[in-house]
Formats: sequence, C-alpha cells, structure tokens
Amino acid sequence: MTSSRIADRVRRIKQSPSSAAAERAAELRRQGKDIVNLVVGEPDFDTPAHIRHAAAAAIEAGQTRYTATAGTPALRQAIAAKFKRENGLDYAPNEIIATCGAKHAIFNALAITVQSGDEVLVPAPYWVSYPDMVLACDGTPVIVPCVEADGFKLTPTTLERAITPRTKWLILNSPSNPTGATYTIDELRALAAVLERHRQVLVMTDDIYEHIRFGDQPTPHLLNAAPALRERTLLVNGVSKTYAMTGWRIGYAAGPADLVGALDILQSQSTSNPSSVSQAAALAALTGDQSFVAEFAEVYRRRRDRGLALINAIPGLSCRTPDGAFYLFINCSGLLGRTTPEGRVLESDIDVVMYFLESTGVALVAGTAYGLSPYMRMSIATSVETIEEGCRRMAGAVAALR
Ligand code: PLP
Repeated sequence: MTSSRIADRVRRIKQSPSSAAAERAAELRRQGKDIVNLVVGEPDFDTPAHIRHAAAAAIEAGQTRYTATAGTPALRQAIAAKFKRENGLDYAPNEIIATCGAKHAIFNALAITVQSGDEVLVPAPYWVSYPDMVLACDGTPVIVPCVEADGFKLTPTTLERAITPRTKWLILNSPSNPTGATYTIDELRALAAVLERHRQVLVMTDDIYEHIRFGDQPTPHLLNAAPALRERTLLVNGVSKTYAMTGWRIGYAAGPADLVGALDILQSQSTSNPSSVSQAAALAALTGDQSFVAEFAEVYRRRRDRGLALINAIPGLSCRTPDGAFYLFINCSGLLGRTTPEGRVLESDIDVVMYFLESTGVALVAGTAYGLSPYMRMSIATSVETIEEGCRRMAGAVAALR
C-alpha cells in the first residue's frame, strides 16, 4: 500500500510512543530476554468481582443490543450521581455522554470543535495522545512547557503567554500522566482568573486519574475553583483507571448541552453506543461498593514511596514526589555526558532509556515522548518486587557508566 492512499490527517500522526515502548518490551520478552516492564499504563489489579458479575448478569439478561447512543439512561444517571457525590457538581443526564473510553471522548471533543488553524494548549509533560489527536483533527497543538521547578504545572504567567485569539482549548490533566502533578484549588483559581479574561477558550479537564491520589483530600476540580467556567468546560473521565477496567472501554464526558449534543451526533454516525455489556459493568462500578478505590490508591502509594526511595538513591537520577497517578517521572540529566561500557556517550533521555533496556532489560519510556526532556517515565502499576528489581538493575547499569 502506498502512503498516498492515506489521508493527510493520519499521515500527520504517529503511533503512541508508550504503546510502541510496551510492544517493544513484549517483543523482547517473546525473544526470551529477561525484561522488567516499567512501561505499563494500566492498573495491574483485576476488575473487582461485583463488576465482572454485573457484566455476566447483563449478558444473561439479554442486555446485548444497541443502547441509546449516549449510553443507557441508568448509566448516565449514575454518572450524574457520581459528579454530585464526588465532585459537588450538578450535571443532568442530557449533559452527559458515555463513550468508548476517555480517549474516545477526548478525540471526539476535538473532532466536533477544532477547525484548521485552531490552537489547542497542551501543557507539557503531556499524555502522549493529546498532540496527535489535535493534529488528526486539523488543529495546531501548542505545547506549553511546565518545568520541574514549577512542579510540572502550568502557571498563570505561562498560560497567559500561550493564549492567542486562535486558542480553542486548554487541556488540563490533573493528576497528570506522566508526572502525577495535581493542581491545588488555589492554583486552579489562579489559572481560572486568566481564563476569565479569554472567553474564547474552552477547557477540557482530563480527570481520569482523579482517584489515584496519595493525599487524604479529594482531587480538586477546576469547576470547584471557578464555577463560572461551567459553560465552557468539558469534563472527561472514565472507569479505566479507578476501577481497573481498561479493557472494558467506558469513558464519559459532561458539559454544556451544545457540546454534548454534537458529541452525540458524531458518535451516532461513527461508533454508536459503547458496548452494552461494558455499560452494565460501569454502572455497577459507579453505583457499587467503593471501598476498594481507596485500597488501590493505598497500594499505589506504598509502591510510589518504595520506588521514589530507590530511584532517589541512584546517583544521577532524581524524582519529584508525585501527588497522584501511577508513574514516576524521573530526571536523568545527571547521566547525560556519561559513557557506557561499550563506549557510547549518553546524549539524551532516549539514549538513557535504550541503555537501560539493552544493558539490563529495564523498559521505561523516554521523557521526550511526553514533551519534556531529559526525563523517563517509570510505571508503578506493577508489583513492589518488580519495582525493586527494576531499580536494582538501573543502579547497576548506572554504576557501570564512566
Ligand atoms: N487520559 C490520560 C491522561 C491517560 O493516561 C489515559 C490512558 O492511559 C487516558 C486518558 C485514556 O483512558 P481510557 O482508557 O478511558 O480511554
């Protein structure tokens, strides 16, 4: 097949670097290499039993047909109740749409709004898919660097400087993949004050890691800080990370009726409803026992603490303490300029990641994939033993550098 058959909007984009890294690690493992996989971006827990049983019961009860495009009334009601209960936000079921994962909601939200020339502000480090999704929708991703000294967070000044008359969206992801950085309510208020002055800017909040958090307070939402932004904010969330349901593909979006209506139309002419069985499972997740959500977070917190201690003990590596999500975003600037036993000088985070993979079988993702170097993302959605083994091998590989 020649590349000319493929439309520009697809030729502009590339495979997700984290999927590529995960596939590379799996490939090496198939070849018999002993790989410590610290790439994974999904919970390592099984979907809780009551959720699985609800799905099985839905199949037996014949819930195997098309549903309303935007999701069953029961699921949308449960999502509305979740917003009220957990976020103190009021959304009616007709302001909510269920989608095939949060990723689908984000993509479709860009597809229904972005025109050629529109700019979308993507604070970096960012989740790998945002810029490519913007490109696929004919928009221009505007990467806004958020440096470690600012806690990898957008500041009012950096936000103000990035906004132009063409700015269509700001995407805000808190807790963040890959840094775990989480905005406080005061930080959100300060960003909202800037947004108040630029009424053309829509805000997409990607709240998928809301419950993977290490403090005892709920994750604050932009709309808690600035309710006036409700008319131009689209909330995106889903069950993948909170309920260990990545494969079920249920996300959702809530926002003003015109945006949600357009999402509904696009979905009706593309995927139709998300899987009816998965919707039944998501309903059980949102309405059932929530106690394991805090238990999962506590397991991640222990892994974070162990991983942080081990990484920060390796000379040349350092890591800020993430507030949430299940990743460590490790600064590897201290290794640049060093020479491997094979005589290769490490010049970038890609070199460092390749060195760890080739020399010790530790698989990570280079920070460049997330728009900020020199860093590497290490997943902690894996056992403490795996984290310890990965860090032990990294320490050995660093010790072998000249
Ligand atoms: N948003 C962020 C920041 C993510 O890290 C991910 C998954 O890795 C998603 C969205 C996608 O979630 P879903 O599985 O619901 O599509």
